[in-house]
Amino acid sequence: MNAVYQLGIVGIGKIARDQHLPAIAAQPGFELVACASRNASVDGVRNYRDIDALLAAEPSLDAVSLCAPPQVRYAQALAALEAGKHVMLEKPPGASVSEVEALYEIARARGVTLFASWHSRAASAVEPARAWLASKEAGAIRSVEVRWKEDVRRWHPGQQWIWEPGGLGVFDPGINALSIVTQIMPHEIALRGATLTTPSDTATPIAAELDCVATNGAPVRAVFDWRHGPVEEWDIDIETDAGRLSMREGGKRLSIAGKEIDVGAEREYPALYERFHELIATQASDVDVRPLRLVADAFLTGRHIETEAFGR
Ligand code: NAP
Repeated sequence: MNAVYQLGIVGIGKIARDQHLPAIAAQPGFELVACASRNASVDGVRNYRDIDALLAAEPSLDAVSLCAPPQVRYAQALAALEAGKHVMLEKPPGASVSEVEALYEIARARGVTLFASWHSRAASAVEPARAWLASKEAGAIRSVEVRWKEDVRRWHPGQQWIWEPGGLGVFDPGINALSIVTQIMPHEIALRGATLTTPSDTATPIAAELDCVATNGAPVRAVFDWRHGPVEEWDIDIETDAGRLSMREGGKRLSIAGKEIDVGAEREYPALYERFHELIATQASDVDVRPLRLVADAFLTGRHIETEAFGR
């Protein structure tokens, strides 16, 4: 890892402070030189109120990492790409699939990197699970079951954007499961039906059920629920000819046919910044919209049920 890229980060909130700042600090391939946030600042770097001010004042910046909510991601990414910067997007990569496709085209035309990151794909159990499912040993996949349930008041306290159009509601965590499933399955997945349960005072669902089918005919079922507690369930079970593959704790733990597999320590965000560095160095992009497309298809074809007000 030779080159050191000057990096700016935009949207200093929960995920920027919890994960991005420590991961960047531990990554020798990036030097954090500036931040843009309307109400927050980071010690030791130059701070700006928004991305336009950052781009205007920092012409030598190589790359930006966008950590604000999805509703503002397109405008920020567009500004950065048009300024010739490499861009890393937090998940979901946009509020709509078409936004992400448009950004990808602009990145290609400008010859810069676009990295639509999916942090859950960097969870320790994901690559060993993908490799086993792709192996002859596993045989055919018979079914996939996803349970992604948590207490929204615990995990998203005070976050209003999740309830607004483009905020995805329960799909904000649920899309993490879809990012794992689309990564580890050796088959494509088609959405066949969905039910979205939305409180009378929110624009986005608090719970959802997805019925999908893999191209080998295996059913793929996902249940997402934000009315769960106090212990979250972030589980994926895949039945195969050779037994059950189970992922627990959002991809931190793996068992195959009843045997716990040592997948090593958790390092999602350090792995994401290693990948961003590699993409820039090799003049490549990584944009996979499949998890977002499944969510979009659920909004498009799903049955919508109204439930009692959330009281946000
Ligand atoms: P957050 O703390 O609510 O928001 C991040 C920051 O974005 C805010 O502090 C705010 O900073 C800025 N922001 C908010 N609304 C804005 C707007 N309308 N225009 C411009 N800036 C705005 O959210 P978060 O939890 O960090 O999540 C951000 C993204 O990371 C989401 O896409 C989420 O899915 C993803 N993510 C979150 C987590 C998690 O555990 N929280 C985990 C993985 C991924 P200023 O007010 O200072 O501008």
